[in-house]
Amino acid sequence: NLDFKFIRDNLQLVSDNCKIRDSAADPALVAQLYDDYVKLKSESDNLRSSRNENSSAMKGKLEADARAALIAKGQQLKQQLEEVEAKLLQVENALQVEGQRIPNLTHPDVPIGEEDNAAVLSLVGEQRAFDFPVRDHVSLGEALGILDFETAAEVSGSKFYYLKGAATLLELALVNWALGRVAAKGFNVLSTPDLVRVDVLEKCGFQPRMENTQVYSVKDSNLCLTGTAEVPLAGVYMDKVLSEKELPIKMVAYGRCFRTEAGASGAAGKGLYRVHQFTKVEMFVLATPEQSDALHQELIGIEQELFTELGLHFKVLDMPSGDLGAPAYRKFDVEAWMPGLGRYGEISSASNCTDYQARRLNIRYRPAAKGAAAEQDAAAAAAAGSGKKGKKGGSKSSGGATAYVHTLNATACAVPRMIVAILENFQQADGSVVVPEVLRPYLGGMEVIRPPP
Ligand code: AMP
Repeated sequence: NLDFKFIRDNLQLVSDNCKIRDSAADPALVAQLYDDYVKLKSESDNLRSSRNENSSAMKGKLEADARAALIAKGQQLKQQLEEVEAKLLQVENALQVEGQRIPNLTHPDVPIGEEDNAAVLSLVGEQRAFDFPVRDHVSLGEALGILDFETAAEVSGSKFYYLKGAATLLELALVNWALGRVAAKGFNVLSTPDLVRVDVLEKCGFQPRMENTQVYSVKDSNLCLTGTAEVPLAGVYMDKVLSEKELPIKMVAYGRCFRTEAGASGAAGKGLYRVHQFTKVEMFVLATPEQSDALHQELIGIEQELFTELGLHFKVLDMPSGDLGAPAYRKFDVEAWMPGLGRYGEISSASNCTDYQARRLNIRYRPAAKGAAAEQDAAAAAAAGSGKKGKKGGSKSSGGATAYVHTLNATACAVPRMIVAILENFQQADGSVVVPEVLRPYLGGMEVIRPPP
């Protein structure tokens, strides 16, 4: 349900947007393919109606000559129609492939450029001053006997890990705490499948079939391992028409994430920082176009609240155009101070994808009846991200126009990086680690993770 007409009618805008987002998509080609498609579609419609007229003309009583002429004409029309339809199919397929590569539009406040151009929206807390030499989480975790990379390397390979003892409990504590805190804000709690169909991943904007993909595929099946619970959460309302009063729908799920981390290497990959498998608590929201900006702020607000409760020092970033990927209209990342690594590290990401995923997943809503004008306004607003209603967008299936919802996703707790931040920030001179107060109830009251005697 992509809006090709919008791309054709706003070619300069869409091309400029591709440039600032470093996208290799080709809007001019999409516009050309769309024009070809419209022309061929109309040719095929005309040929089809000529053929129908011709068939009707044959129904009456006719002289043999006249009938023979109609039969010949019918055969000619059939052949022409087959040729046009074959071309139409080709063009339609190319249009879909090229169209899918066009990224979402960009929020006007988003900074232009690459990762370095991120705008710092806020800085919370302060870097802790240490009066002893700081250690990184690998050294701390191994000495405490709670992280084991060596065994994991033998069993699974690099970028895997065993959590042991208190670290295992810490993972469960973080999940329980984050789920509980977000649920208390009115989010429905889910546990989602970790294997999803390849087409659902694609509709969410992932590219499981690309070279150097981040996605693991299961051989001889149409399934992939999820890189994030965002995908199964986005799929919950696939092909559904919601009513406006149901929105916003807020969900929070915990799931395992699997990433090939193709191309990643170096010091940033040390220990738990960049791993192939991890547990994450993820928030996902479906909203009307009028609600989505405010909900994006709400999601980043929840993240800040959670990280503040843990006692972390962090900054909130408005990510620049070159770092948004295809689906996000705007993205806020949080980076926490990690003293052992000696730098800030990303711990969460909150994106407003406007109607990018909803168009592909076909998730629509029916605006509340406030009069015809209000309905039209809502449909137009829904299209603001990238244009008009889709194929079924204007249907009157059970009264009233429908419009695409907006989707938003945000990390509540990506466990391994939380463990990095906790171990490195709350380490003590003797190698023990103070457990953040909010997590202690989930750890049987444990206040300090101590080295083995
Ligand atoms: P993303 O879904 O890519 O926005 O990632 C969400 C969060 O998951 C990031 O902000 C990181 O905190 C965390 N994360 C992403 N990739 C990895 C990885 N390979 N290993 C550990 N944590 C990760």
